[in-house]
Amino acid sequence: MATTLITGGTVVSATGRGAADVLVDGERIVALLEPGSTVLGANLAETVDTVVDASGKYVIPGGIDAHTHMSMPFGGTTAADDFETGTRAAAWGGTTMIIDFAVQKFGERVPESLQTWHEMAAGQCAVDYSFHQIIGEVNKESLAELRRLPDEGITSYKLFMAYPGVFYSDDAQILRAMQTGADTGLLTMMHAENGPAIDVLVEQLLAQGKTDPYYHGVARAWQLEEEATHRAIMLADLTGAPLYVVHVSAKQAVAQLAAARDRGRNVFGETCPQYLYLSLEDNLGAPGFEGAKWVCSTPLRSREEDHQNQVWQALRTNDLQMVSTDHCPFCMKGQKDMGIGDFSKIPNGIGSVEHRMDLMYQGVVEGRITLERWVEITSTTPARMFGLYGRKGVLAPGADADIVVYDPDGHTSIGMGKTHHMNMDHSAWEGYEIDGHVDVVLSRGKVLVADGEYRGRKGDGKFVRRDPCQYLI
Ligand SMILES: [Zn+2]
Repeated sequence: MATTLITGGTVVSATGRGAADVLVDGERIVALLEPGSTVLGANLAETVDTVVDASGKYVIPGGIDAHTHMSMPFGGTTAADDFETGTRAAAWGGTTMIIDFAVQKFGERVPESLQTWHEMAAGQCAVDYSFHQIIGEVNKESLAELRRLPDEGITSYKLFMAYPGVFYSDDAQILRAMQTGADTGLLTMMHAENGPAIDVLVEQLLAQGKTDPYYHGVARAWQLEEEATHRAIMLADLTGAPLYVVHVSAKQAVAQLAAARDRGRNVFGETCPQYLYLSLEDNLGAPGFEGAKWVCSTPLRSREEDHQNQVWQALRTNDLQMVSTDHCPFCMKGQKDMGIGDFSKIPNGIGSVEHRMDLMYQGVVEGRITLERWVEITSTTPARMFGLYGRKGVLAPGADADIVVYDPDGHTSIGMGKTHHMNMDHSAWEGYEIDGHVDVVLSRGKVLVADGEYRGRKGDGKFVRRDPCQYLI
C-alpha cells in the first residue's frame, strides 16, 4: 500500500491545534508524529512514497457535507449536478464525504427508492457518500420499512412539514414516524416550515400579481418556520425522538432550538452558508428575474431583521451545531426560468457544495468563529451527528485518510470561470473573495486535488454504512 507523509503543517481538530506530521498508510492514518520524527532510525520523509509539504498551512479532516441533493427531482426538473459532477466539485472544495437523500415519493416503496439512489451513485462518486432516507408518505408499510434502515447502514430519515401533495407529512404522520424512529434508534430530520399556510400565502400573492422571486421569501415567512420548528420540537419531546432540524434560517427558529436544548433535549440544528451571507433584500430582491438564483427553502431572510448575524452567533454558541449546504443546483436557463411570471414554479435550490469549506473559513478570518470551531462545524460534528466519527471527522490513527491541506495565505475567487466545478450556468456566490485556499485533498489516502489539478477518478468514492447518532445527550 502507498504511504504518504504530510509534513510541516499545523494539525487542527475540533479541540485544538499543534504542529504534527501525519503518516498515511494505504487508506488510513497510522500516526500523528512530532515534526521531523525519525521512526526506528528511519527518516520518514525519505522512506514514504509521497511527501506533501504543508509548511505554513493547516491540516484538517476532510469536510463532510451532510445535506446534498444530487440528481434530485423537483418541480418537474432534476438538480443539475449528478453524483459524478457534484462530488467532484465537493472534492475540489475540500469536502471528502457527502450524505445525500434517497427519496421515497408519495406512492413509492422505501426499499425501492433507496435502491434507486444506490444505483445512481454507485461507481460515479469522487468522494465517499451515504444517504438519509426521505419518507414522502408515512403509512403502515413505510413505517415498517423505516425499522429496517439500520440494517442498510442508514441511521437517519427526513420528514417534510412543507410541500403539501409532494413530501408533506401531517402531524399524525409525524407523530407515528417519530415514535418508530425513536424506537429504532434513528435520527429524525425535519424540514420545518408550515407548508399548508405557505401555500395560502403563495396563492394570495400570485393573485395580487406579485410574481417576482422576492415574493418566494415573503410567502415563506419566518413565523411559519418558527411555528413548525416549535411543533417539531414538541412532537419530538412527546415521543422521545432525537430531532435534527435542517437548513435553519430564521433567528426565531434558532431561539426555539436553543430553548429546547436549554431544557436538555436532543434537539439539533444545521444552517447553510446562504443563511449566513445572503439576504432577502440583496439577493432574492435582485432586479428582474435574477433573484431566482437564490430561491431555496427555507428562504433567505431579511438583512434588516438581522437574521444573518444571529445565525452566526448561534453557530458560535452551539445553539446550531453544524453547517451543510443543502446543495441542490438548478441552471437559470431551462430550469429556474420555468418560474418567470410565477415564483412558485422556480425550482428550489442553491449550489454550494464546492464552497462550504471556504465560505466557513471566511468566518474564521472575520473573527466570527475559531479555527477549531470551523473544523467542528464542517467535519467533526457532522461525523458525530450521523454516526461516522472515528472513521471520519478526525485526524487520528485508524481514521480514514480524508485530509485537507488548507492555506491561510492563499486566496480563492469564487464565480463562473474561477473556482467553480459545479454543473451550473451561474454561481450563487459570484464575486465572493475568500482569504484562504484548499491546496491538497486526500480521500482515503488518495490525492484527489493537488497543484491546482484534479487527480481523482469517478468511482473513487464508496458508500459508507453509518452507526447511530453519536451526539446524543
Ligand atoms: Zn434539502
